[in-house]
Amino acid sequence: MSGADDTLSPPDAPDAAASTPRARTTQGPLRDFSRTTAWIFDLDNTLYPAGCNLFAEVDRRMGAYIAKYLGVPFAQARHLQKSYYRQFGTTLSGLMQVHKLDPQPFLDYVHDIDLSAVPKAPKLAAAISALPRRKLIYTNGSRRHAERVADKLGVLHLFEDICDIAACGYVPKPEVDAFTRMVQRHDVAPRQAAMFEDMPHNLEAPHALGMTTVLVHSDYPDHPVQLQMRNWKELPAHIHHATDDLTDFLDTVCRQAREAAPAVSG
Ligand SMILES: [Mg+2]
Repeated sequence: MSGADDTLSPPDAPDAAASTPRARTTQGPLRDFSRTTAWIFDLDNTLYPAGCNLFAEVDRRMGAYIAKYLGVPFAQARHLQKSYYRQFGTTLSGLMQVHKLDPQPFLDYVHDIDLSAVPKAPKLAAAISALPRRKLIYTNGSRRHAERVADKLGVLHLFEDICDIAACGYVPKPEVDAFTRMVQRHDVAPRQAAMFEDMPHNLEAPHALGMTTVLVHSDYPDHPVQLQMRNWKELPAHIHHATDDLTDFLDTVCRQAREAAPAVSG
């Protein structure tokens, strides 16, 4: 995407709407990616498709850990798990605040999963590789989990760094403080950053900070908002773009940047 010169066009170009890939919005001008210098990706159900069913295993292991840790039946543990998830942003955050849980053994256990369902993703790797400048993974999970999954996908080497839940002091997305910690830690200028996420509420804070936001649709209904999404007639104001196919979206972004470059510079 060599044509993505910072001077090509303003970040809020109104005429970008017609040509923006898979963008759907009716509120305000769409953004393009001509000034994006940091591409930030969530991991679970964003970089790999929810169809891998990987997070379902993480989800199940959380319930098992809680059951053992608190000495309660699995069904009760699952209820607590989901309650904390909705109330605190992550199950881990609730466990830490309510039960003073030590996070590292929990993370080690829940992420000790079989990755055989994760496919090599050479087309995704090519699409990410073609993006200019910096690429980061930002996850509410652990660095080790992100490294394993990204390596299995064949994309790990493309990322400058991984920001995990420990690096953010165990403050999780969607809290604004979590994103503030992430951008400070990695010296990211929010208005020159794009955030890719499968959870729509995790895009509220990055939008407020000035990032371009992209919802990568997931068919893993793990949160009430994902069920509400099915009734959306239009995207919420805090989501600039949405896509069912991350690789296709990134390919289109790069192609449009190449096509736009000669028209501006020539
Ligand atoms: Mg996710």
